[in-house]
Amino acid sequence: MTDQATNLRPPVLELVEVSKRYPGPPAVDALRNVTLRIHPGELVAVGGPSGSGKSTLLNILGLLDTPTSGTHLLGGKATNGLRERDLTRLRASSIGFVFQSFHLVPYLNSVQNVTLPLVHQGRPRRERRDLAMAALASVGLAHRLHAKPTTLSGGEQQRVAIARAVVHQPVLLLCDEPTGNLDSSNTDTVMRLLRDLVGTDRAVVVVTHEARVEADADRVIRVVDGRAS
Ligand code: ADP
Repeated sequence: MTDQATNLRPPVLELVEVSKRYPGPPAVDALRNVTLRIHPGELVAVGGPSGSGKSTLLNILGLLDTPTSGTHLLGGKATNGLRERDLTRLRASSIGFVFQSFHLVPYLNSVQNVTLPLVHQGRPRRERRDLAMAALASVGLAHRLHAKPTTLSGGEQQRVAIARAVVHQPVLLLCDEPTGNLDSSNTDTVMRLLRDLVGTDRAVVVVTHEARVEADADRVIRVVDGRAS
């Protein structure tokens, strides 16, 4: 990422003074006045101790949860106040998710798993299949198109999950401990893939406990006691 890119292009995602309180009892202030910007072309790691608010932050970034106060902007547009249906549509078109435990559907093969985000987009079946096959090829799995998840290694399953997360070309990819279940060689592979997927227009955010993942990021946002710096 260049300074020029940061200065000239609007952020993919912006939080302005976002706070999140879980009502309890007892009430928990999980995020306190968080302001941040994520730019196109950035790979950003989110680190911090357990219980500091990282998952809450990721859920809010990904429109899976709403702030108690403050503003969330996606592509420069505030999302506060959107109806659930519109939030779901925005999430489905603009955001991809990768989880630590892959979350693949066990009875579907690789192509069928990767096709899932396209099913509600009204694309013809043939096109969905072609897009899924291209996404699987881009993560090095063109030879495992018809494999079920249980016949794949952990690293391969995470690559299928990554293909599924980007098959609809989201501007934002959010990853929750994507290497948490992987050995070091698969961790390297996943980080190389995430770096490739950033490209010039997309932003990738990775919540992680691992120093080596932080080292691969353009910058690290540290969350401590609900505050981000
Ligand atoms: P991290 O991902 O860094 O471990 P979390 O965002 O999961 O942190 O949690 C931040 C704080 O919010 C913690 O004190 C946690 O116990 C609390 N918390 C998380 N989710 C809920 C919830 N649904 N209801 C009440 N408290 C919650």
